[in-house]
Amino acid sequence: MQFPLTLTHFLSRARDFFGTTEVVSRRPDKSLHRHTWRDVVDRTARLANALTKLGVRPGARVATLCWNHTAHLEAWLAAPCMGAVVHTLNLRLHPNELAYIARHAEDDVIIVDRSLLPLFHKFKDQVPSLRHVLVVPDDGEVDPVNGLDYEKTIAAASAEFAWPELPENQAAMICYTSGTTGNPKGVLYSHRSIVLHTLVSCMRDTLGVGEADTVLPVVPMFHAAAWGLPFDAIATGAKLVFPGPHLDPGSLLELMAKERVTVAGGVPTIWLGILAMLDADPKKFDLSAIRAMVIGGSAAPASLIDGFKKRHDLSVQHAWGMTETSPLGTVSRTKRAQADASPEVKLAALASQGYACAFVEQRHVGENGQRLPWDGETMGELEVRGPWVAQSYLGGEGVDRFTADGWFKTGDVATIDREGFVRITDRSKDVIKSGGEWISSVALENALMSHPAVLEAAVFAGRHPKWDERPLAAIVLKPNQQATAEQLRAHLEGQFAKFWLPDDFLFVTAIPRTSTGKFLKSKLRADYGDHLMK
Ligand code: ADP
Repeated sequence: MQFPLTLTHFLSRARDFFGTTEVVSRRPDKSLHRHTWRDVVDRTARLANALTKLGVRPGARVATLCWNHTAHLEAWLAAPCMGAVVHTLNLRLHPNELAYIARHAEDDVIIVDRSLLPLFHKFKDQVPSLRHVLVVPDDGEVDPVNGLDYEKTIAAASAEFAWPELPENQAAMICYTSGTTGNPKGVLYSHRSIVLHTLVSCMRDTLGVGEADTVLPVVPMFHAAAWGLPFDAIATGAKLVFPGPHLDPGSLLELMAKERVTVAGGVPTIWLGILAMLDADPKKFDLSAIRAMVIGGSAAPASLIDGFKKRHDLSVQHAWGMTETSPLGTVSRTKRAQADASPEVKLAALASQGYACAFVEQRHVGENGQRLPWDGETMGELEVRGPWVAQSYLGGEGVDRFTADGWFKTGDVATIDREGFVRITDRSKDVIKSGGEWISSVALENALMSHPAVLEAAVFAGRHPKWDERPLAAIVLKPNQQATAEQLRAHLEGQFAKFWLPDDFLFVTAIPRTSTGKFLKSKLRADYGDHLMK
């Protein structure tokens, strides 16, 4: 049959089959608010009626400036299913960047948390297209001068909405790259691309989300659609738990234990903090329900994966992706071929970025675009293609990222081994080129973070009079732990060729981060790049 792959299908399915399953949200005051899938679907219809009344037309952009919570999810569902487009704004960006993005996307209406109004007020006047503001009363009553109260507005609207029959290629969501390597660029997801991404994400060998799961998206809903986890939950009828603004290790651990979370997803920096807290007090939280902790966004160090497994019997699921890939690209799990391999080989496979999930194709190419061998050694730029990989950016920017034969150039440098396992060695902008040879900062960081005294390590290029660039390491030590540069160098010796070893180790209190929690190496280069020239 010709049956359109649209998100609308998920709405009736969640209401009819999983109507009593909970969707839980944590508010700024830490209270937990409970809805069911039936409530969420009703509230989504009410929101669609309210937006229609506000004049939101097909194709119009409904922006969100929200933490992860139920109302945010309702916007994710109502706007696309009524034929409009939801646009998630990253609340960690500078107001000027937010203004640029909201103007670029021509946002029509915005849904904003009351707790985020101070940020919104810093840029709202720079977005002339905005006609209406709906304020989610997450931390108190909404003053009408700030906009319409989200709860009162949807309560006044009907819970019946005649969802239109949409073509599957209709735009559903816009997400901007976080601009780690340049101006943020808009990526459009269609109903079809999200539905296919969801189906493959829920395959057992991908993330394997099912009805019995309780899913906690720690990754923000503005960061590559929270990796699709909320869509996985509604599609399968899983229980969903939103952390709101409380993303510190203690709050997350408490929530995971209380709600019996089975699958949680977040960037490595979140999990590094969680592992340190568990190590300090292994018995405090009951995490026996957890079956997978999904880690992506930056490389998950092998020591992190190993530490969770060995010391706490918790399994990490390492995945690679990008805003441009919706985001799932590759997922790491050992294969039949490694069943009898040593623990070291298995850990190395789990710590790699894995191989492409179904319907994503991968290759890596050299400087002239030639395909490189899958020998586990040759480094080249990773390229991917597939039904949820972008074929252009909004407004036609960045055309050089798309090849003539339909592949997306990721900007990541990787090796691929015979079994297809991808190992990201760097982002091309972060590559360290010493005397013409490439040094993988990611490999050095992983090794440094396996040192017992090291909490975080970021390796970056320092300018060098003779070698052009040499690696430098910024190190954050664990509280009450000591390590000297000599000890860290000794820890790396034997694991790497001599010319890979960092020329210096800079002990810092914190490593600067991007808006999505990754190490901000451009700032490290700006601050310390001339360290070796002095
Ligand atoms: P931004 O491009 O603004 O950082 P994205 O979240 O889209 O925002 O980042 C995608 C990039 O993150 C990838 O190109 C890659 O460099 C990095 N990345 C994502 N997942 C992993 C991973 N598992 N291992 C290493 N790098 C990763």
